[in-house]
Amino acid sequence: MINYTEKIWGLPAAEMHGDWAEQRIKGLSMLALAKDALVRVFHGGNTGTKRTLADTFYYPESGTGLIYDTIKDELDARGCKILLNTEPSHVVHSNDRLQRVRCKNPGGEVEIEFRQVAESIPVGEFLNLLSPRPPARVLELQKKLHYRDQAYLFLTLDQPSVTSDQWIYFPEKSIPIGRMSEMRNFSDRMSPPGKTSLFLEFFCTEGDPIWNMDGDELFEHAIPHLERMRFTDRSKVRQHYHLRERNVYPVYDVNYQDYLNEIKSYLNGFSNLHCIGRPGRFRYNNQDHSLEMGFLAARSIIEGIRYDLDLVGSDKAYFERGPIPVEVPDEDTTGRNTATAAPQTNAISTTTVVASGQTIPTSEMQRPADTNVGQSLSQSVHRRSESTSPSRNSSDTASRMAGKNRTAL
Ligand SMILES: Cc1cc2nc3c(=O)[nH]c(=O)nc-3n(C[C@H](O)[C@H](O)[C@H](O)COP(=O)(O)OP(=O)(O)OC[C@H]3O[C@@H](n4cnc5c(N)ncnc54)[C@H](O)[C@@H]3O)c2cc1C
Repeated sequence: MINYTEKIWGLPAAEMHGDWAEQRIKGLSMLALAKDALVRVFHGGNTGTKRTLADTFYYPESGTGLIYDTIKDELDARGCKILLNTEPSHVVHSNDRLQRVRCKNPGGEVEIEFRQVAESIPVGEFLNLLSPRPPARVLELQKKLHYRDQAYLFLTLDQPSVTSDQWIYFPEKSIPIGRMSEMRNFSDRMSPPGKTSLFLEFFCTEGDPIWNMDGDELFEHAIPHLERMRFTDRSKVRQHYHLRERNVYPVYDVNYQDYLNEIKSYLNGFSNLHCIGRPGRFRYNNQDHSLEMGFLAARSIIEGIRYDLDLVGSDKAYFERGPIPVEVPDEDTTGRNTATAAPQTNAISTTTVVASGQTIPTSEMQRPADTNVGQSLSQSVHRRSESTSPSRNSSDTASRMAGKNRTAL
């Protein structure tokens, strides 16, 4: 995985901080890999204890957006106001408290007063919103925290399928594609019958050649590789759609903790601020971690105690595996497995969090009893087995991690 990791971060492995491995591949050893391989061969299962070896997961039937649409519906139903297309321009503070935020929206400007703030935008962008400005030293340090960006191509193919895999990772530097995802293999509803929706990710940094390519250029850059690996050919491509995202991956270089700690101690000085999420905490979260941070920030506000959000996802338990029941699921009509049981949504996770000096295992915490987000979701969440089909073109070293390796989301 070293090549792939270097491709994601755009850094030689020697310049990366060990936290990356600590967070994502902790507990993985050659012995564990060998044991897992043997169990798979002889028993068709897996040892299932290490975080890079998780091999089943739930996926919302109509895509991961279902989770957030459901949360939005719940909030709407409770009369909460969500402002879309509204961008903060200033966050005004005084007396160690954030007081109000000024926002731009298509209708002009709005100013909102609040008691508590949970923010999840990139650290530097948040610091630059503060008025009065943070100390010069803090503003200097934030420039040393880097995020990696991404370009994406979504291809619609006139072919029923490309592979049986959810993900294929390409560690080779000679292949510009970082990862390819075939959406139907997550859920049948993700592609129309007879067509394939193929998602290509390219790791880049704003302003570099990949970032600067427009959709047609990026397509021309990628398609020869897809053809060479015999995944598809250009005659089958009905359309492609191009997207770019900034600040996708916080870059854990060897010094990032020093910079981040100093910035955090400044931000911690605001008594009503809760920095959450992947960009907001400069932490390599998966979605479950970001959601959990949101839950804990809410609890911090409601209970008036501060939970240490950096402990989310830091223990040995692989949260994505935790709530998945182990019963053998029913077969559906397509021969694929569907879950019969809902994910256990009552326990937040087995993570241990520290609140004001107390240690509270979150497995002992219950989510608010009136939440039915998990319930609504469970009706359309499928349990997927990650496929392990052999490489179509084994002479090519395109690494078919097939979703087995969860280190690189
Ligand atoms: C291609 C890809 C595939 C992934 N697949 C998986 C997966 O299968 N499973 C999984 O668990 N995780 C996956 N992840 C990771 C997952 O997307 C992140 O963990 C998750 O999005 C983090 O959520 P967040 O709310 O912390 O941050 P984000 O989702 O990054 O949200 C931050 C938001 O802040 C907004 N923002 C930024 N600056 C400003 C500003 N100045 N003002 C206002 N808004 C601003 C951004 O537009 C963004 O909407 C994947 C990530 C990528 C890129």
